[in-house]
Amino acid sequence: MDWRSLDEQYIVSSYKRIPIAIEKGEGNYLYDTNGKSYLDLFTGLAVNVLGHSHPRIVQALREQGERFLHISNVFLNKPAIRLAERLVANSISGKVFFTNSGAEATESAIKLIHKWTKNEGAGREGIVVLRNSFHGRTLGAVRLTRQAHVYQDFPQPAFPVYELDVEDTAGLRAICQEARPAAVLMEPVLGSGGVVPLTEAFLREVAAICEQEGMLFVMDEIQTGMGRTGKLFAYEHAGVTPDLILFAKGIGGGLPLGGVIAGPKLMNQFKPGDHGTTFAPSPLSAALGNVVLDELLNPAFIPHVEEVIAYLWSGLEALRTRLPDQLQSLRGKGLMVGIPLSSTPEEVSHLQQALLDEGILVDVTQKTIVRLLPPLTLTKADVDRFLAVFEEQLTARTGSKKEA
Ligand SMILES: *Cc1c(COP(=O)(O)O)cnc(C)c1O
Repeated sequence: MDWRSLDEQYIVSSYKRIPIAIEKGEGNYLYDTNGKSYLDLFTGLAVNVLGHSHPRIVQALREQGERFLHISNVFLNKPAIRLAERLVANSISGKVFFTNSGAEATESAIKLIHKWTKNEGAGREGIVVLRNSFHGRTLGAVRLTRQAHVYQDFPQPAFPVYELDVEDTAGLRAICQEARPAAVLMEPVLGSGGVVPLTEAFLREVAAICEQEGMLFVMDEIQTGMGRTGKLFAYEHAGVTPDLILFAKGIGGGLPLGGVIAGPKLMNQFKPGDHGTTFAPSPLSAALGNVVLDELLNPAFIPHVEEVIAYLWSGLEALRTRLPDQLQSLRGKGLMVGIPLSSTPEEVSHLQQALLDEGILVDVTQKTIVRLLPPLTLTKADVDRFLAVFEEQLTARTGSKKEA
């Protein structure tokens, strides 16, 4: 079967595809229709935090599948209630609104912030976001996504958006002198914007300014959450307390699930009828969410993640000292790694293909940044394998360049 041409014929081509057809996944590996294996350092964009076909995920799928798959929000949803309780117990005190995706979490945040300004008579309007941020692609969310190739000239709602540079607290104070924004919304590590971590000092100062000004402090943890940086949520590193947390991607263990955790200022802003969705939270997704939390909250799990994070970063640093011309810098936090390469987009795309030929799947963002979003079950052996092949490919490339 020529899956590639069928894909071109029948699927809208809004993605540049890696033309391999996956047959199955197991642990940290994917297998294509030819039986070739790939170490998955991409995890479907930071989704499969427990790798593929995790036995407890498969068990929960079967168990919930045998009960029911969908009941709507008209009934009490036990897996979702349990999941919300545990999310709140491990983040900020508040309540959860569930969605099917990250973008819908952003939409819910926009509506909640709006309700807060109206209900509380805050006299504030609009949201401050970072340049190069990514908060989703639906028309409301894309207003907050400050990447021109993403928002393009699509119609956007008219609420005010203020753009701030990373680390620019003076800029934030200046915005507050001219206008009265209702909230500041940020990714603790910019993901598709180039894997740029915010410093803890910056996050603390932004949180303090929000407090002084009476603005809401909102963290988009859609990519950084679910243990990816070595904490359940990345804001925890800075010791700040958000008013609202957005989550999605990893929480559903591979199924679509997202939402917001709304703190005390926001948790009672929606009244029946103010917001809704048919599917979310799917009881099946919520059941898997509980498995993800079972694993992540197991006292042995995060220490393993911290250990493999330290191992990966020291390996990357060592590689950088051996290949200083190619690896001028490394970016990211935990298992969110950006490796900017001093090569053309075409060369980086070739490198990605060469790694794929060697059985390693990595992502590329902003054209020349190799991005790693491995599963949290990554092992030291996986790291060794990646580093060896990556070094080999980088060296082979310089070799051939020098000869040319
Ligand atoms: C992926 C992502 C989103 C959007 O999530 P979708 O599920 O693709 O709609 C929003 N914010 C951040 C930080 C993301 O990484």
